[in-house]
Amino acid sequence: MNGPDRGELLRAPLFHTPRNPFLEDHALESHWDGGLLIRDGRIAACGDFETIRGANPGATITDLRGGFLIPGLIDTHIHFPQLRVIGGLGRTLLDWLEECALPEEARMADESYARQIAERFVHALASHGTTTALVFGAHFSAATAELFEAGAKAGLRIVSGMVLSDRQLRPELHQTPEAAYRDSRDLIRSFHGRGRLLYAVTPRFALSTSEPMLEVCQTLRRENEGVRFQTHLNENSREIEQVARLFPWASDYLAVYERFGLGGHGAVMAHNVRPAASEIERLAAGGTAIAHCPSSNAALGSGLFAMKRHIQAGVRVSLGTDVGGGTGFGILKEALQAYLLQRIAPDGVLLHAAHMLYLATRAGAEALALDEDIGDFHPGKAADIVYIKPPADSPLSAVLERTETPEEVLAAIFTLADAESIHHVRVEGSIVYG
Ligand SMILES: [Zn+2]
Repeated sequence: MNGPDRGELLRAPLFHTPRNPFLEDHALESHWDGGLLIRDGRIAACGDFETIRGANPGATITDLRGGFLIPGLIDTHIHFPQLRVIGGLGRTLLDWLEECALPEEARMADESYARQIAERFVHALASHGTTTALVFGAHFSAATAELFEAGAKAGLRIVSGMVLSDRQLRPELHQTPEAAYRDSRDLIRSFHGRGRLLYAVTPRFALSTSEPMLEVCQTLRRENEGVRFQTHLNENSREIEQVARLFPWASDYLAVYERFGLGGHGAVMAHNVRPAASEIERLAAGGTAIAHCPSSNAALGSGLFAMKRHIQAGVRVSLGTDVGGGTGFGILKEALQAYLLQRIAPDGVLLHAAHMLYLATRAGAEALALDEDIGDFHPGKAADIVYIKPPADSPLSAVLERTETPEEVLAAIFTLADAESIHHVRVEGSIVYG
């Protein structure tokens, strides 16, 4: 018999945001000579290294000085079947869907192809420091199951669901509402709550889902406790016009989802770059989160996100890479893109390093209703950790040699850290990458 787990004590500078920097000052917590005690996959203590060592003399020490610890990154909007269409520049949403995304999504009918892509997809998440992702699955049940299996094998937290559509795309991507119900129910039984996996009911967007299909989504949420919900909202002006034509009874885009009870805490809608004032108020009141995807919004020319209006109204805002409309897997880079676009947006929010870290971690946990379990280093939470250690000859290394304050270090990381700076990644204390 082994003795009790005395824990592993990681020693490195560490940063996390246990509070919301949009609401509170001093939300960023940092420890220059930091200690993070992991026991049974959970954070047992977080603080000053010497203090924690003194209180836990039996812990095994892992010296990680020379790098930095942050909580696992959380991507709240990304499409697994779009891995290979990243970089389809020069188009707007509906043309991009037709020319780039949907032909590739149709290839997911081939289960072995889907398996290959799923494995590369989860590897790409982990290698960029993403430990939790809310993922659009495929329009096919078997391909969506492949994503769940690949996520489980990689040890990541994957929240996903089969993408539901019954019109406006291409026939091979459409399901009947009956088949959508049956396949979703079976996937929920197989994967929801299995290990680190959760199911999310996933109508692609109002444009491609009839009212009977939205009713199916409502039923699936009603019948299955704890399933999450994801979709798109107000991304592109042509899309919004078409949604208005298809649902003449709806006062706006959000009202389509509201009619079927599709929103609330644990529901994440991507984009909302063109919201009406009352939509923002209703999102805040209902607790629905918006996944802000700045790279995608810029790449597809969708528009500038009114972050200040959302934050001031009290809407939860998290980050998504929106691969493949977005430009890659890095949530660190996505936070930088958010910063850059807010700099040039009319009435933009000036994001500091604390905001960026919060958006990249804890905000995603809140959006997914997982903030009891992940998002920061509060004792009791899962030990989901990214260890950042840039290569010695990198520009980031050179910058970090002169930075002094935690804010400066974090700002340098967000500006310059890419996948090569992600040294290793843990979920519940176990290494999933590196
Ligand atoms: Zn998307």
